Formats: sequence, structure tokens, C-alpha cells
Amino acid sequence: MLPAALLALTAVCAAQPAYRSADPEIARLISEMNAGRVARGMEKLGSFGTRDVHSATDSATEGIGAARRWLVEELKGYGPRLEVRTDSYRVKKQGRVQRDLEMVNVVAVLPGTTQKERQVILGAHYDSLSLARDTGPAARPAPGVSDNASGVAAVLEAARVMSRREWKKTLVFILFAGEEQGLFGARLHADSLLKEKTAVDAVLNLDIIGDETAGNGRKMSHLVRLFSAGPDDSPSRSAASRRCASPNRTRTTPISTRPPVVAQASGAPMLGRGKSGYDAELRWSHQPEPDLAGFAVVIRPTTAPFWEHEIFAGNVPRFTLANVSIDDLVIGVKAVSTAGHESPVAAYVAPERADGKIQLAEDVR
Ligand SMILES: [Zn+2]
Repeated sequence: MLPAALLALTAVCAAQPAYRSADPEIARLISEMNAGRVARGMEKLGSFGTRDVHSATDSATEGIGAARRWLVEELKGYGPRLEVRTDSYRVKKQGRVQRDLEMVNVVAVLPGTTQKERQVILGAHYDSLSLARDTGPAARPAPGVSDNASGVAAVLEAARVMSRREWKKTLVFILFAGEEQGLFGARLHADSLLKEKTAVDAVLNLDIIGDETAGNGRKMSHLVRLFSAGPDDSPSRSAASRRCASPNRTRTTPISTRPPVVAQASGAPMLGRGKSGYDAELRWSHQPEPDLAGFAVVIRPTTAPFWEHEIFAGNVPRFTLANVSIDDLVIGVKAVSTAGHESPVAAYVAPERADGKIQLAEDVR
């Protein structure tokens, strides 16, 4: 049951400016993606026979080494603005890693313009695995066209098309090794990002994409599964939930704008009951950005899984809902650019209580 004040908001929302109209530049970008190139990339990757991390690294035509060298050359061919490199890690025998070996990620960096220090990462694992148990892992065929030449070919095509343009943030296209052994390539890369204190705004990882038929023959063509780390309202969930797909309409908004901040470093709450003590008042802070149009507040009852109301608040640092209890609602806010691009939602999540220790009298007799 929605509070009456919220029901009244529905009309307000309908009257909001249509800042969400599709950006023609994004439509153009998508139209430049070539499905034929993606298909040929998948075939090429399958032609190496296997990309198992234990497979040959010295052959020109077979195994993970040959596949990796092809990936490097392919990315280099997209133009001089992409900085292509390999990151190599010496990994000891452990778990599914059957001997000491080298795991090599292929990385292509497209430096950003005004926010060069912030990264958006698009990745996919290029290694493969056969579950057949008859021969050694290096010899088993594992063309891995679905898992995961499909994701790799899509990353390559995105790198090709996106590297023809300039972007505010630095885009990193990365092809990971050792995923099948337990996300080794991705984890090693994440460790190095943490060590260098790199600011990463979003990571999109593609795995087994574009096939509507499951291994058991079941078909599903109207859904794209998005996996994101919880809990609800985490930055990861928020970034994922902005990509809604439906049979008639797919809406995607680029991650170009930084989300507002609704929690102070001091931990002081930025959601309160306002001056009256009976309102819901959300405050936020935001770094200045030249193309900022304002902020949209999103609201749902605490019992609802999805945002139900959205209100464009304008370029202001706070928003008040009169006569609404903050105990009944989840409230978030997102930044909206002049082109209609939205940041992920920053939802207000009550900080964990940090109660002090209760002092007991030593002797209560
Ligand atoms: Zn996979």
C-alpha cells in the first residue's frame, strides 16, 4: 500500500520532461557494430582448437598462445589510439591449475579526455575448457565458441567501433585468461587495480552471449541475464538495473555521469525528517560537471523490488517529500546530463549502527 502522498506523485512523474529520449549518437554507434565481424571473430577463435590455459603457447595455429597473439594483432589493427598490451602473471600449481604456468590477459586502453583517471571496463574471458576426461587438458578439443568466443568477439567489435570516437572516461577492453580455473585473470587484474588505487566506475563482463538456446534445448529470446553483486541498491545492482530489456523496447543509458553521493564520509545521515519532523528529505552532493542537467529522485515503498516513482528535481542539492515517513520508503537519486544520460542511482541505505560498548558497573551488588 502506497502512502497517499506517493500516489499523487504518479501524475507529477508523467509530466516530467522527456530527458530520456534515445541519444541518436548511441543509435549510430550501435548501427556501426557489424554482426558479420562478430561471427567471423567467433569462428577464428574456435579455429585454435583449444584455448585451455594448459594448452600450447608456442604453436602458430593452435592453443591459447596462438589465440592470444591473434587477439593482440586484431586489437592493434583497430587504430593507433588503442594502447594494446599483455599483462602476464606467473601462477603456481593450485586447484584447477595443474602445473605452474603463465596466465596472460590482453588489455587495450582507450585514454579518456576530461576524466582520464576514471575507467569503464568491458571484458570477457578468452580461455576455454573441455570437461572430457579421456586425455590431458592440453590435447582435448575445447573450441569454446559459445563459452566464450561469443563474449570476446563482442568486446573486439565494441573496441573497434568505440575507438573511433573520443570518450570522457578511459575505456579499457580486456580479455581475461584463467577464468575456467576460478576467475584468475580477472582477480589478478582487480588486485592490480586496487594496488594502484585506480578509479573504476563500472565493469561489464560478457560471458556466453547471443545464444537463445540453452544446453537442454530450452529457448528464451526475450531476456538478457544481468548478474550483479548485491545487496539491493549496491552500486553494482544500480548500474545493472539501468539496462532494462523488453521484447518491444530495450533501453540502455551510458555510464557517463557520476552518481551523486548520499552518504557523508563522517557517516552522518543525508536522509532525514526535515524541519517539520514528518517529511522525507534527501540531501546529496555531486562533483561539478559541465553537462549536468540536474537530478532525478527515485522512490519505492520498502516492500517493493523496483523503483516505482521518479521525479526530476532540477539542479538542486536536496528534495523534500511532505508528510511522507522515511520509514516507509527507499529513496535514491541519480544525476542526469543535458543529453539525457543518467548516472547509476545512489540509494540512501541506512548505515549500520555503531553502538558504543555499554559500560557496566563492575560490582552491581
Ligand atoms: Zn565462460
